[in-house]
Amino acid sequence: MKILFLDIDGVLNNDGQDWTIERSWTIHDPSVALLNRLLDEIPDLNIVISSTWRVKDRGQEATVNHLVKHGFKHASRVIGSTPDFGDTTNAWFRRGEECLEWIELHNNDCVVEMFAFLDDQKDMFLTLPMYYSSRLVITNQEVGFVERDFDKLKEILCSK
Ligand SMILES: [Mg+2]
Repeated sequence: MKILFLDIDGVLNNDGQDWTIERSWTIHDPSVALLNRLLDEIPDLNIVISSTWRVKDRGQEATVNHLVKHGFKHASRVIGSTPDFGDTTNAWFRRGEECLEWIELHNNDCVVEMFAFLDDQKDMFLTLPMYYSSRLVITNQEVGFVERDFDKLKEILCSK
């Protein structure tokens, strides 16, 4: 299978939105629609949540339910969340490592043939070997996940 490690803030929402209505739960429907399309077009793609939405007061289930309210059609293809390295020193910068740890932990139950990271913050991935930078698609937080990012993800996820 293929895996997309999904961030939410700055990806499925953006700075250009009105944040007064849903506040920290703000989601941009057109970005969710684009994510639907990616999952439609790549049938063996699944999602693993890397966003901080996966922990604390939200969690994976509440996050997915909320995305469904915003038009997300593929709840069953969200198959997990990355482990949380916590608030320890530098943990914030280790999101990339949390993603790789997820693959390591699921080595026995799934074969990950390709994966990509979708995030708005490149500095969370700097502790990974350079090799992985080709798997990283960085959104512009002013607009979130847009067509240009979609094209890059398809290229990465559908490459051999
Ligand atoms: Mg983010």
